[in-house]
Amino acid sequence: MNFKDYIREVPDFPTPGISFKDITPLLEDAEAFRKAGEALMDFVKDLRVDKVVGIESRGFFYAPILAEKLGVGFVPARKPGKLPRKTQRQTYDLEYGSDALEIHAESITPGDRVLIHDDVLATGGTARAICDLVTSLGGEVVQCNFLIELEFLGGRQKLGDVPLRALVSY
Ligand code: AMP
Repeated sequence: MNFKDYIREVPDFPTPGISFKDITPLLEDAEAFRKAGEALMDFVKDLRVDKVVGIESRGFFYAPILAEKLGVGFVPARKPGKLPRKTQRQTYDLEYGSDALEIHAESITPGDRVLIHDDVLATGGTARAICDLVTSLGGEVVQCNFLIELEFLGGRQKLGDVPLRALVSY
């Protein structure tokens, strides 16, 4: 299956100059939705994983499915102020300004082998921040996986040694 057939490119969204990769056609097609999940699972089937971290919000479509298939827990990484208990926060730079993500501090046990999932790897700032967050709690990132990698933005370089897989690249 060519997954790109199910990804709509929306020019100048949400701001001029950005070509937004809209994955809702993929989610809306039962076969494409299932096959993308299976393909993401192929990336991790030989890994030992203890937790799956999904990044708010489009990482939440597949991360819980991967966790369920792997038989491990799902941990949401959320925008600040959404999680009710003690959190660990990581701030990261955007093109203009900064943003932050949090996870419940006790969701990662030192030594946990963690899979990170998001829909799109762009500049890599978001994924880098989550890797640092997991590491700061004593976890080990065993892979970052994505539906889409925007290769021309060079996000892969920001992740250094962390194994990275993506279903499709632009
Ligand atoms: P970055 O930190 O630059 O790698 O950006 C990654 C985050 O921004 C992901 O959570 C994506 O959902 C979102 N994102 C960035 N660029 C795009 C794009 N062109 N289309 C869709 N989502 C994007």
